[in-house]
Amino acid sequence: NKTITIDQIKAAAEEAYQLYRNNTAGKNADYIPYLANIDKNLFGISICLLDGRTIEFGDTQYKFGIESVSKVHTAILVIRQSGTDELLNKIGADATGLPFNSIFAILLEKDHPSTPLVNAGAITACSMIQPVGDADKKWEAIVSNITELCGSAPQLIDELYQSESATNFNNRSISWLLKNYNRMYDDPDKSLDLYTRQCSLGITAQQLAICGATIANKGLNPVSKLQVFDAGASSKITSLIATVGFYEHTGDWLYTSGIPAKTGVGGGVMGTLPGLFGIAAFAPPIDDAGNSVKAQLAIKYIMNKLELSVFSGD
Ligand code: GLN
Repeated sequence: NKTITIDQIKAAAEEAYQLYRNNTAGKNADYIPYLANIDKNLFGISICLLDGRTIEFGDTQYKFGIESVSKVHTAILVIRQSGTDELLNKIGADATGLPFNSIFAILLEKDHPSTPLVNAGAITACSMIQPVGDADKKWEAIVSNITELCGSAPQLIDELYQSESATNFNNRSISWLLKNYNRMYDDPDKSLDLYTRQCSLGITAQQLAICGATIANKGLNPVSKLQVFDAGASSKITSLIATVGFYEHTGDWLYTSGIPAKTGVGGGVMGTLPGLFGIAAFAPPIDDAGNSVKAQLAIKYIMNKLELSVFSGD
């Protein structure tokens, strides 16, 4: 493994922060009314090393909507509860090459939703969470899994939850289409509600960096020292993220940044570099695929400056 010092990482992160803090490209998500009104100047970069030390620049303690980054957490919960084979058989681990909210993700592979990291597969994942039939207990399991992965609890942003619940017509149709194809393992409306609630959790960039580091550290949270999931599952989780973390731009992202990462329309991006660190950046303005403009720029800058890539073999 390449040796890289905390000072080198810190310097690269600070440069990225200074370089992009005044960038005004992109636009807050507006299909969820709450997100449209978040301060568009917020910007934070957080890195968590595998010895638990963290590096912070900017608004790394601001609680923003986790949105689709939560798909990673709940995929991990499915694996914790049911194993890696069950995730592969009931949902899949494939790229879709499609936008996050596409209904075609269900039809692509003869009726199963391809991956837990797009809306269709993420709603199926929520339906699989145990105990099936008990939405309150399922919610507790989802929140406690996120808490363990991030080292501290997320907090529901009620206004975001209401805002998204009132406008999620596309996701409602995905949910029932999944039911039609026998890929719904609990009540479709309740499973969608769990998905919507998990997307509405407030999380900080620092918490996501710790989660990225937990995945990079074979399931051992480097801050709390808790073994959150089986070490053997970590390469499976990283492969899911690498395959579809940026939806239709996943290939471009990996090619230019070298790091498996997952985005959310709340403006967060969480990256995981096996054996080295977890990284998260947050800035609300997103591009046309729903990915934070400044978070992408910052993470790419840091990876390239440090000459790191998951594919380099260093
Ligand atoms: N909750 C959002 C949705 O389902 C998440 C989308 C995202 O972050 N890409 O539309």
